[in-house]
Amino acid sequence: PTVSPFLEPGLRTKPSSLAILQLSRDNLLPIYLQEPSGEHDGYAEGAVVNTRYGSFPHSTMLNVPWGSQIRASKVDTGSRGRKRKRGPRDDASRDDAEENQPETTDNNATEAIGVKQAVADDSGFIHVLPPTPELWTQSLPHRTQVVYTPDYSYILHRIRARPGSTIIEAGAGSGSFTHASVRAVYNGYPSSAEDRKGKVFSFEYHEERYHKMKKELTDHNLDGLVHLTHRDVYNGGFLIDGKSPEADAIFLDLPKPWEALPHLSRRKPQNQAKEGEDSAAEWTSPLNPKRAVHICTFSPCIEQVTRTVSAMRRLGWVDIDMVEIANRKLHTIRDRVGLHYQTDRGVNVSPHDVEEALERLAEIEERVREQAARPRDDGAEDADTAMKNGDEAAKKDDDKTSAEQPPFQTPWVDGRLITKGEPEIKTHTSYLVFAVLPREWTEEDEAAAFAKYPCGK
Ligand code: SAM
Repeated sequence: PTVSPFLEPGLRTKPSSLAILQLSRDNLLPIYLQEPSGEHDGYAEGAVVNTRYGSFPHSTMLNVPWGSQIRASKVDTGSRGRKRKRGPRDDASRDDAEENQPETTDNNATEAIGVKQAVADDSGFIHVLPPTPELWTQSLPHRTQVVYTPDYSYILHRIRARPGSTIIEAGAGSGSFTHASVRAVYNGYPSSAEDRKGKVFSFEYHEERYHKMKKELTDHNLDGLVHLTHRDVYNGGFLIDGKSPEADAIFLDLPKPWEALPHLSRRKPQNQAKEGEDSAAEWTSPLNPKRAVHICTFSPCIEQVTRTVSAMRRLGWVDIDMVEIANRKLHTIRDRVGLHYQTDRGVNVSPHDVEEALERLAEIEERVREQAARPRDDGAEDADTAMKNGDEAAKKDDDKTSAEQPPFQTPWVDGRLITKGEPEIKTHTSYLVFAVLPREWTEEDEAAAFAKYPCGK
């Protein structure tokens, strides 16, 4: 199979492959790069991405190393096309996401812009980045609330997702967690149905979301690695064609995780077994029988947590705990550039410090008054001139005093370091409940273990 660009993007951009255009720090645009169609060769440039930073024909972004900066092109709108909407790029206001909505125009389809030639123009630029789960989370089309990077990185670590693991996920939603989890478990594409490679079994009961997600998985070449099923897991459980996916780890982002939990047992839950029936009979567990299984449920309300924990206890889950990720991104910058220096009174003066600036002004005025009151040598300087020259005189005075008293400090231009929290960081706060279901241990397991690692006599 063609390898997913999320897993092995290669060194350069490729036609038909997903790329993430970074228009500004937080404004990302996922696109599929298209080659100019042969039909229009020598006439149309092909698809063009129009942004406030300029026009970017796909052809200028193809076969370049990932991470390349792409300069805007002058796109000739010609008599048949419309004029480019936006004027010169204003890099100073790059974070203005509202205004920054790009338009992608496929000229071959719409003939909106008749382009003879794209001429390099260095006034605007963007970067072309390889798709990663983190960038996808920031740029994917939202169909639901999504799990953000600070949460899923911690979750994947806690449920011990690693290359070769099998994960059950429900519901799939917008696929944010799916992309992160498939990268965590990826260790090659399976060559047959029996081939045990890292895999994600994802479930979604909303039909439209299921279809959109299915298409996305195909577009991202993740079909063989993510098995998406259209199902209500509260009623239908997690088996695939009656067989166990043998999951090592589970992630539930559902409104009622406690309704899904009975399907994630090793044995038929007692309350589902008929009287006198062996709870293990006629029941297939979706879990890996040879490993302890790790689970995480993701719920916004504490009431949901309570019900989930209660169901987990009844069903034999252990090591239950709850975590809330309170992620804070700190933005550290220097204050506005300032000029600080020490006066003859040893005061550090900064233009940002009003009180000290006033003190400094008072000093200057004082000197000006003194100077004006002094008998003039040549009678040339009146009070006005004294006022004008006040600053200069004060500086000379400062120099003199600092030579005598504290050494005059070299002015420096660095502002103070300021650290601010970024309140707008996206993280959907939810409570994460973690638990472990130990593996079952039979007489045969014990005998096999003893044969392998004899102990005692
Ligand atoms: N984790 C996803 C992501 O990162 O994009 C978001 C999941 S979204 C919050 C919850 C999803 O669960 C919704 O798409 C909803 O349709 C689905 N869902 C709710 N109940 C379900 C059920 N009983 N069976 C399967 N899916 C269900």
